[in-house]
Amino acid sequence: MRRPKRSLARGGEAFWFLASILIGREKQIYDHLKGSVGGWNGWRKFKVAAKRRESDIITSFVLQPFDGGPVVGHRPGQYLTFKFDVPGLPPQRRNYSISSSPNGMTYRISVKREALGTVSRHLHDRIQEGDVIDVAPPTGDFHLPERPERPVVLLSGGVGLTPMVSMLETIVDSGVEHQVHYVHGAQDGRVHAMGDHVRQLVEGRAHLKAAIFYGTPHEDDERGVHFDHDGHITIDWLAANTPLRDADFYLCGPKPFLAAFVNGLLQAGVAQERIHFEFFGPADDLAAA
Ligand SMILES: Cc1cc2nc3c(=O)[nH]c(=O)nc-3n(C[C@H](O)[C@H](O)[C@H](O)COP(=O)(O)OP(=O)(O)OC[C@H]3O[C@@H](n4cnc5c(N)ncnc54)[C@H](O)[C@@H]3O)c2cc1C
Repeated sequence: MRRPKRSLARGGEAFWFLASILIGREKQIYDHLKGSVGGWNGWRKFKVAAKRRESDIITSFVLQPFDGGPVVGHRPGQYLTFKFDVPGLPPQRRNYSISSSPNGMTYRISVKREALGTVSRHLHDRIQEGDVIDVAPPTGDFHLPERPERPVVLLSGGVGLTPMVSMLETIVDSGVEHQVHYVHGAQDGRVHAMGDHVRQLVEGRAHLKAAIFYGTPHEDDERGVHFDHDGHITIDWLAANTPLRDADFYLCGPKPFLAAFVNGLLQAGVAQERIHFEFFGPADDLAAA
């Protein structure tokens, strides 16, 4: 995330205060990782071990080191930087959040195909299992603490679910016992990714809850199977259904989603230090939200 060049016109100073604390510490993090098992510096070749369609617009890629070695454990919420050779263009760098929990051997990313996007279309349309791509080590300050000390609310919109799924998987793997609420908004079942996976993760675990909102459910979408609520997530719903005053909130989604919920949570009395968010674009872009 780049440092904002101007103040947020409409979203408020508090929002920009939060944005500024997210500005990268990449070098510090890379230096720390270099000495860890499975850590590396600069670019490392990864093979696409699996390519899996998650919805009409989101596809996952499981990445395994080409050298056969282990990978350093990321903190759930962190992202990888990639360098792609797209025909006819100079090397293209993009970031993608890791959507899996740390397992020492692979990372998974889940990418939304943007109608006019250079790299997302390259990944969806051209990259196949067995292809090799350049990857820089996991980084980013948006992540769960090693041992969450209080309830957690994972709040996402659209493809913003990727770091949340990594966090939820990690919470399950590590036996966190605090209440955890996974709250996700999508347009409908055609674009909603990883719904079954999330339901399986929370099933039979009373302290984990998932609530899925569809803005405009499709006629094939079944309430209670594919989604739980019609319409959009609201602050009032969060206040009634999550431990608003006690929880740490992790947010990721499009600009209007982040602007609405960061400011809404602050206004609802959630302490600033309990609100953590990731934005999938340059920080300057948030200013337009
Ligand atoms: C920390 C971080 C984590 C991220 N994690 C994820 C993730 O987990 N999953 C994910 O899918 N993305 C993620 N992103 C976003 C990702 O890095 C890319 O920005 C995204 O895939 C779009 O890249 P692109 O090359 O396809 O689009 P670009 O070619 O860079 O285009 C960007 C946008 O502009 C639009 N656009 C391009 N050309 C035009 C045009 N001529 N007219 C109008 N609009 C146009 C495209 O449709 C697209 O929406 C993350 C970003 C960050 C910063």
